[in-house]
Amino acid sequence: MYAEADLLPLSGLQHLAFCERQWALIHVEQQWEENRLTAEGRVLHKTVDSGVDETRDGVRMVRSLAVRSFRLGVTGKADVVEFPLDGSPPVPVEYKRGRPKSEPWDEIQLCAQALCLEEMLDRPVTEGAIYYATRRRRSVIEFDAELRQRTEAMAARMQELFHSGATPAPVLTPRCRSCSLIEICQPSAIGQRGSARAFFRRSVAAVSLREEGQS
Ligand code: SF4
Repeated sequence: MYAEADLLPLSGLQHLAFCERQWALIHVEQQWEENRLTAEGRVLHKTVDSGVDETRDGVRMVRSLAVRSFRLGVTGKADVVEFPLDGSPPVPVEYKRGRPKSEPWDEIQLCAQALCLEEMLDRPVTEGAIYYATRRRRSVIEFDAELRQRTEAMAARMQELFHSGATPAPVLTPRCRSCSLIEICQPSAIGQRGSARAFFRRSVAAVSLREEGQS
């Protein structure tokens, strides 16, 4: 069990699942670069968060619900949690721009919310949903044993990396093309030589040396 002070942002799980280096740049080095994809996602979440709680068709919908798990060591917010008035298990709903991805990055984030809710409410949460803005409909996600294990492993890895304080070296892959941090990361320039911050320092030092040589 983790202490309150050790809880890490749940939203980091999707960054970590996408790329460990991206997670470290955002959550350890505190760097962030917005691109069109992240801007669209931010606007979508702002719209969802600005809504009010309501009850409709026998379901109480609670928005921006704070969640946490001392077992996983994460804390964050669920976009929407639906509580059926007939006593059925609650259903976390996550809103995403775009369409379903090739890997279960969004599913891991949603499952972490479900594990938080189970711990907080002491009741099972068996399925959730992801609403993709491009498709304008929701996909039902079952929280099966495999997804739960993967989510728990990801949360443990996030704690491990955070406490190591190390930024993993870049690995140039096709997903770098859609990464908002590619300019900061410099995956083809840095190679195995350390953090983006160190790369930035080296670059500044190189420019200074050049300028001194020209003066
Ligand atoms: S550019 Fe590539 S290696 Fe660098 S953080 Fe993004 S996905 Fe990871």
